Amino acid sequence: MVMKPIQTLPGSEKQMDHKPIVDDITHQPAGKLKNKIALITGGDSGIGKSVAILFAKEGAKVVINYLNEHEDAQSTKTLIEKYGGEALLIPGDISNETFCRQLVEKTVKHFGRIDILVNNAGTQHQTQSLEDITTENLIHTFQVNVFAMIWITQSALPHMPKGSAIINTTSVTAYQGNALLLDYSATKGAIVAFTRSLSASLINKEIRVNGVAPGPIWTPLATATNDKEGNKHHGENTPLQRAGEPVEVAPSYLFLASKDASYMTGQVLHPNGGSIING
Ligand code: NAD
Ligand code: MG
Repeated sequence: MVMKPIQTLPGSEKQMDHKPIVDDITHQPAGKLKNKIALITGGDSGIGKSVAILFAKEGAKVVINYLNEHEDAQSTKTLIEKYGGEALLIPGDISNETFCRQLVEKTVKHFGRIDILVNNAGTQHQTQSLEDITTENLIHTFQVNVFAMIWITQSALPHMPKGSAIINTTSVTAYQGNALLLDYSATKGAIVAFTRSLSASLINKEIRVNGVAPGPIWTPLATATNDKEGNKHHGENTPLQRAGEPVEVAPSYLFLASKDASYMTGQVLHPNGGSIING
């Protein structure tokens, strides 16, 4: 049954009672991303925020794109700076092709190149049935989740040197399906196929392309999708019987972004609470 979410999209961390855990204060940085430039979409909150903080701790300079959650984005930047890192905030709507291209241009103008591209922003609209999907929401979901990924990657590629890494956020829903998220699941399946295809097409450029397929994670997107009851039970049907925290997902991105994953391309990692999927 589809119910009223406790906040509206895109959702903000500020409005969540129980704040997601985005920073592992016990992490011992090892300079794995020293002097790298990383562009992260949806880096203001949730999984993207945790990735931005971890990348910065490991020595990367990060560019954070987000829709309009200025307070969340500022808090991410402030935390990164507290750790001695550098973050550039570029808000804007990636459902717009022109903005996607400007996002890359601004990044390159500021930092000169892109070593790591994390296509992580995403949106979803729960519906009770296929009939309830509006064309407007359908187009928007594909624009934000899939088209933007292609537009941003197209624009970024000329500025990505050999050895660069692209990491796309897909979802467990691509593998397991989700009866209330038909169109969203379809976008996430498209992302898996795009990731595999792009990895093959960039072999000669020596750019690795991988994905991360999180299970249910405690983030603003979750609270902007589920109602109060749904949020209480978010993740309970996983083998670990709980939702994951963003901080439990971010290390997968660090692995894929760093030299540690030099023999990995076209693959998807599954921080999903123990669900065994074929993929
Ligand atoms: P989140 O709300 O913290 O992050 C999503 C971000 O996407 C937002 O911060 C927002 O700024 C950005 N965004 C949305 N629409 C945008 C637009 N039109 N233009 C620019 N930016 C836009 O939530 P999250 O759960 O951390 O989501 C990150 C990614 O993880 C998404 O791709 C989501 O589909 C995926 N994911 C989440 C879960 C989960 O349970 N939370 C599970 C699997 C996959
Ligand atoms: Mg946000």
